[in-house]
Amino acid sequence: MTDPVEHGPGRTAAAFQEVYGAVPAGVWAAPGRINLIGEHTDYNDGFVMPLALPHTTLAAAAPRADGVLRLHSGAVPGSVVELRVAELDPAAVGRAGGDRGGWAAYPAGVVWALKDAGLAVGGLDLHLDSTVPTGAGLSSSAALEVATAAALNELYGLGLDSRSIARLCQRAENAFVGVPCGIMDQTASACCTAGHALFLDTRDLRMRQVPFDPAAEGLRLLVIDTRVRHELGDGAYAQRRASCEAGARALGVRALRDVPYAHLNSVVAELADDPVTLRRVRHVVTEIRRVEEVVECLDAGAVRAIGPLLTAGHASCRDDFEISCPELDLAVEAATAAGALGARMTGGGFGGSAIALVAEAAVERVSTAVDRAFAAAGYRPPRLFPALPSEGARRLL
Ligand code: ADP
Ligand code: MG
Repeated sequence: MTDPVEHGPGRTAAAFQEVYGAVPAGVWAAPGRINLIGEHTDYNDGFVMPLALPHTTLAAAAPRADGVLRLHSGAVPGSVVELRVAELDPAAVGRAGGDRGGWAAYPAGVVWALKDAGLAVGGLDLHLDSTVPTGAGLSSSAALEVATAAALNELYGLGLDSRSIARLCQRAENAFVGVPCGIMDQTASACCTAGHALFLDTRDLRMRQVPFDPAAEGLRLLVIDTRVRHELGDGAYAQRRASCEAGARALGVRALRDVPYAHLNSVVAELADDPVTLRRVRHVVTEIRRVEEVVECLDAGAVRAIGPLLTAGHASCRDDFEISCPELDLAVEAATAAGALGARMTGGGFGGSAIALVAEAAVERVSTAVDRAFAAAGYRPPRLFPALPSEGARRLL
């Protein structure tokens, strides 16, 4: 990972020029994200609360009149992928298997999704640079999609607002890349604002920017990237979605979002003969409630009070939704034992990153404790950095 400060639009424009022999028409940025609270609630029509990281994917782009799409990433130097917009076909990409045609499927999928929505997009030269760690649960895929869509939106005068960009990027990832993700990551990358967490209702994409400035309270939100990603994650994600749908059917609701927290006891009784579905449902219902409680705390200026809610969210992810892993559990345990106010896994789970809310004076102690715990367990050293609530997608040049 490059230092986010070192990376800039001038460099990305220069890299574009090196690859394509011409200057780009512009450079756009879209950030990675962490989710403060609200895990696996987005495909249950529930609430989530992401914030954008300072780490971004930059897209330098220029339109082409000949319908050709040329794609290059600084992360995959040397190879320019060339496609024709008119021939983009999600079925053909799906047949390629593996990660469905490789990294180029993400930006190509965005072009396809815009075209499939009836928008007049044409060819494009695109160069991408990113400081968002990939596969770390920090949404490098959404950053890549949203940066590409932001470029196309302006270069082709599509007039899309940030919510529409998020929806189309999710469609690209679902239908073209073949990843059944919810709407949170793309919305976070497209819509977050600096100094805020985004309180998002994933049912109708209503949103509110909630002021969140840990530094002003003498706090830090640390990201602990475990640098592991367990293979079982992909299949487990589909299973969790299926369990949630089964739970909603059993309870006679459209989505688990429609199960009121106040009815939890009767739900537990109703699902008693299906303990797995019961645990999945209980996670979603309590997690949606925890999002509301975190919002109440932040609205009241009680930032420290969110700590126990984060830790309770982790326990629910670990025990009821069963999407954690030993590395994430160790990160959370070591951080809280060393004095973090709260900690939890963030993102899809089975590896990736945890977050910890820590008093400034305890950052050193908590970081050292996490490093030592990982070393003692024989794990790879984790990567720690502060999450400053940052700006969503924007044009830089
Ligand atoms: P996450 O979104 O949590 O980082 P994903 O598996 O959803 O993890 O997305 C990671 C994939 O996105 C990578 O394997 C790669 O295909 C693609 N990707 C992300 N950023 C870049 C980039 N800058 N250049 C090329 N491909 C990228
Ligand atoms: Mg992703």
